[in-house]
Amino acid sequence: MLCVNAVNCTRHLFVPLPNGKSAWDLLLERTQTPEFSRVQGDTPVLLLAPEGLVQEIPDTWKVETRADWTSQEFFATARRFSEALESNDTTVVFLHADAPFLSPKITLQLERLHQDYHVQYTFADGYPEGMAPEFIDRRILSALEKLAVDSPMQRNLLFETVAKDINSFDVETELAPADYRDLRLHLYCDGARNTALCSALMQAGGEESDERLLSILREQGQLIRTLPNFGAVEVSTARAQSVAYLPTYSNPSGQQFMGVTEFATLCTELVNFAPEISLALSVPGEIGLHPHPEKLVAAARDAGVARLLIETGGVGWSPGSLVDVHAVWPDLHLVVDLDALDHLTYEKLRGHGYDEAYAFAEEALKLFGNRCYIASTRSTLNEVDLDGFYSHWKNKGAEVLIRKYNHFSHRLPDLRVTDLSPLRRHPCRHLERDLSIAVDGTAYMCLEDLERSHPLGNIFQDGIGSVWNSGAVRFQEHVSGEFSTICRDCDEYYTFNF
Ligand code: SF4
Repeated sequence: MLCVNAVNCTRHLFVPLPNGKSAWDLLLERTQTPEFSRVQGDTPVLLLAPEGLVQEIPDTWKVETRADWTSQEFFATARRFSEALESNDTTVVFLHADAPFLSPKITLQLERLHQDYHVQYTFADGYPEGMAPEFIDRRILSALEKLAVDSPMQRNLLFETVAKDINSFDVETELAPADYRDLRLHLYCDGARNTALCSALMQAGGEESDERLLSILREQGQLIRTLPNFGAVEVSTARAQSVAYLPTYSNPSGQQFMGVTEFATLCTELVNFAPEISLALSVPGEIGLHPHPEKLVAAARDAGVARLLIETGGVGWSPGSLVDVHAVWPDLHLVVDLDALDHLTYEKLRGHGYDEAYAFAEEALKLFGNRCYIASTRSTLNEVDLDGFYSHWKNKGAEVLIRKYNHFSHRLPDLRVTDLSPLRRHPCRHLERDLSIAVDGTAYMCLEDLERSHPLGNIFQDGIGSVWNSGAVRFQEHVSGEFSTICRDCDEYYTFNF
């Protein structure tokens, strides 16, 4: 049987791609190809979908819809459906409805592997996500149902569920000719950003064959830069502490805070351009010193910002301010930078404010629960304190975030405890995904630009489209293997946010 997952799909499922067909049209076509027919045989198709998304469905398909799907419901539904089948075919082919590059060829290879080795779960590894389906033996669906937790259904639920008790299942893997996981691509039409990527790859000829698609990904790397996914916004240049590992940024405008009205305009521009964008406030200044943090949060919420992250040292906030922020947007994410448990180590790293910051962190944890992260930037200055720091906050039920030290292209001493950089240099993820926006609305190349000498333009004056496109030149240089100016010695190119 074919099990088609449309649970994680959006209206982008029906957006026409450059060949005039949507991902849904391509799915219907693909299930008719000899490769899929061979897999499919005369077995039925089960479509799992959110309510109201898919209207025109082939008569022979069985459809199950829910407002919200959990992993357990998925396995239970697939199990019930498979138990009612009369066929002796025990194979379930699991595929996503919005994957326009789903490969019949890889599907056939997986099927052979699955059948020849009589395994229970077969998947492909190393390909960009969306090129390969997964195969499972329907007789393990009830076991997977028991292993699954009652959490919202994610795309990778088959692998994640099997992995919980991997030794109980026979598993086979088909390896890609080369490893493409480093590109972190999701070839699904599930949002503006991924749909733009699928369109660009199709425009470049990626639908001709798997080989062509994979060669485009390596030879035309600039195509993966589509829309920004993350914006670091300096709503405040003020700092409550002098942090040892955070250098001073130049501030050409001399402005101290971004006004609430300007910030609201900025959010609207960003969301109109990149609907899935996440924002972080305030990077690198302290948002707690802004006169109206709760109004900034309300402006981001009202503009439809998908995800908001507040970064703070927890010092300088007005009494009651955090409660107001929580009341406006209880689901936002909050990072409290504390760096050390030991008082002296804390002072060495952050100066004064230990008691205030720790009290703030306790309050933040109480308000935001597991959306509050207690952070430490790991360096030779706090390495010996880190175990105690971690245990202290873990025992309080906090999420602990250990951040990487940044030497800002050797403008700060290299205090890294370990070198995490990849063996092979690749184009910078920040150029590919991020916008770094200063207090006056000017976007800069990235957060490494302390001198603010690489402006991309001002969002209020030049428009977001023009600003974003300005960053393409530097990204193209990286794709060509050129790493000039501060990029040359940078150790941040492989890190990414969200
Ligand atoms: S490589 Fe470093 S300096 Fe260059 S754009 Fe990326 S983060 Fe900035």
